[in-house]
Amino acid sequence: MRCLARGVNLRGVAVEGRGVVEAARTAQDTWPTATAAFGRLLMGALLMTAFLEDDTPQRVSLQVVCKGPIQEIFAEAHAHGAVRGYVVNPHVHLEPVEGKLDVKGAVGGGTLHVVKDLGIGEPYHSSIPLVSGELALDLAHYLARSEQLPSAVALGVKVDSEGRVESAGGLLVHTVGEVPDRDLARLEEYFGSLGSISGLMAEKGPRGVLEEALAPWGSYAWVERAVEWRCRCSRERARGTLIALGREDLKRLLEQGGTRVECRFCGKVYGFSREEILTLLKELEDRPGGCGK
Ligand SMILES: [Zn+2]
Repeated sequence: MRCLARGVNLRGVAVEGRGVVEAARTAQDTWPTATAAFGRLLMGALLMTAFLEDDTPQRVSLQVVCKGPIQEIFAEAHAHGAVRGYVVNPHVHLEPVEGKLDVKGAVGGGTLHVVKDLGIGEPYHSSIPLVSGELALDLAHYLARSEQLPSAVALGVKVDSEGRVESAGGLLVHTVGEVPDRDLARLEEYFGSLGSISGLMAEKGPRGVLEEALAPWGSYAWVERAVEWRCRCSRERARGTLIALGREDLKRLLEQGGTRVECRFCGKVYGFSREEILTLLKELEDRPGGCGK
């Protein structure tokens, strides 16, 4: 859900991410601390696409390359609400700190790489050092520094005793122009006093959370968008990956009698027989001017 605040240059977006993060956990087999870190980044990417144009191929990807045991997390969200991602080391579970999953411990220091593809011209790339490792503050820092959009961000994932996602939520409020200090202070105070965003989301839903966050001003111009964990992989794309390997590697796969291409995001496996690889090799040779290198 997204909306505007009345009489002040603020806009807000909130995402209820339980279903998305649970699907992501299953696809990547993440352990609790990794689930929380991954879920936060996925929801962060969704929040950042909320103001892109609907039904366009516009997308935002967030990649955290870090020193902590999780090593790398990637999330890619589309303007139409689909999100996917991967975790390099999904089997991270650390002792909780003050009852909360230790995302900071799993991530540690590192770099946040952001790519915004608006479907016109070259995608926009930006990299910024992580300032906290909790990810919400890191995204707020990125938005303020790289996009000149001072923002407040909260992200949270709660897992049950079996490691399944119990609740997940994200909240982002942007400034979109001059905002009086008094109003900024009210917003900061709200975010500072915010307990568990995942719990609040489960209780109030995205609209309720936004109404509460923007209560001093009131909210209007509501837009709702469905979000889902969805991978865009296909057999055709897997073929493309194989062709990109080039002739020598394809010949090696041919000698092996075939191969399998596994999607990094959803884990789906595409098998290619010896005959299919022969066809790919032939395609490479038939390409105009191509020698298949
Ligand atoms: Zn896939």
